[in-house]
Amino acid sequence: MSLTEIEARIDQACIAAGRDRADVHLIAVSKVQPNERVQAVLSQGHRHFGENKVQEAAGKWPDFRAAFEDVKVDLIGPLQTNKARQAIELFDAIHSVDRPKLAKTLARLAQETGACPDLFIQVNTGEEPQKAGVIPSDADAFIADCRAMDLPVKGLMCLPPAHEEPSLHFALLAKIAERNGLAGLSMGMSGDFESAIALGATHVRVGSAIFGERDYG
Ligand SMILES: *Cc1c(COP(=O)(O)O)cnc(C)c1O
Repeated sequence: MSLTEIEARIDQACIAAGRDRADVHLIAVSKVQPNERVQAVLSQGHRHFGENKVQEAAGKWPDFRAAFEDVKVDLIGPLQTNKARQAIELFDAIHSVDRPKLAKTLARLAQETGACPDLFIQVNTGEEPQKAGVIPSDADAFIADCRAMDLPVKGLMCLPPAHEEPSLHFALLAKIAERNGLAGLSMGMSGDFESAIALGATHVRVGSAIFGERDYG
């Protein structure tokens, strides 16, 4: 597949859902991909990317930002508190705020530096023990705590269990966002971004369908 094809499918999904195309942001997930592939997508004019590791992003995005204008890079993977300072400097948004300790660290750094990326709170909609995110029943309280710390919470993010119908999880995330007055919904990947758009996604995170399979070799 390719960027053009994914863009066309997003256009179609927006039409089918009666949504404004401008309300759906495509995050091209470039983790693990060779620099040539990332460069090719930048050269086609795409400017919004996602990475899941601080270290990996630090190794490639400063150079790409120097070479291309208006690049945005979001962190979509787990963040350790000891890398929070680096993450604040590197990323335009963090989609993986998932625990009080991280929220407190981000709030302290935001005060100190006077800046903070847009934040999404990750919700573990499937309540999977190995997965990051607050469980749905803790989400309202955690969102309130983050807001009380003046953190710029823009929305929620989820990563549905691999073998369940993702739309149930997207609908749950949308419901939690709505009752908390949050506009942002980071949900949907290569295999399910169209149903995420149907259920209100504002940020879809698409990797392999744009760049090809990741080679972890
Ligand atoms: C890797 C990753 C994606 C993209 O996955 P694809 O299936 O390649 O589209 C999306 N979200 C997160 C959190 C990821 O880690």
